Amino acid sequence: MAADANCIFCKIVAGTIPCFKLHEDAATLAFLDINPVNPGHALVIPKAHAPNLFESADGDLAAVMAAVRRVATAVEKTVKPFGVNLLQANGPGAAQSVFHFHMHIIPRVRDDDLKMNWGLKPGDKAELAALAERIRSNL
Ligand code: AMP
Ligand code: ZN
Repeated sequence: MAADANCIFCKIVAGTIPCFKLHEDAATLAFLDINPVNPGHALVIPKAHAPNLFESADGDLAAVMAAVRRVATAVEKTVKPFGVNLLQANGPGAAQSVFHFHMHIIPRVRDDDLKMNWGLKPGDKAELAALAERIRSNL
């Protein structure tokens, strides 16, 4: 499977750096965002490296969206958000910071006043681990 040795998400796929894993199948991996904008903020990535939408394979995109629906459904059950947004960025002009294609699953909190380009604030590791466990139990 295509990997980029300098890519942080390829390292998560390879298991050389940890993540709060939610779900995995042959083509995709889902885990909690380490700087959650709201509780349950999750990412779904193809295991094969592609920097953005434009360079992604059709089959990987299909697999990612199927996993997004499954994980978003579990996030919905777990954190009971006000709503859920999906977001995907391409290029620095769109505030893309990790150049391995990923879909954001963003649970919304009433009156969270979320802007499209939020600042990154690290999440509490113990809270992330506990929430990942609860979402996995709803998969
Ligand atoms: P984007 O700005 O769309 O490229 O989003 C990249 C996302 O990856 C950001 O929301 C980061 O918080 C998240 N991120 C970066 N490194 C990690 C990591 N090691 N584990 C989980 N999420 C990460
Ligand atoms: Zn990668």
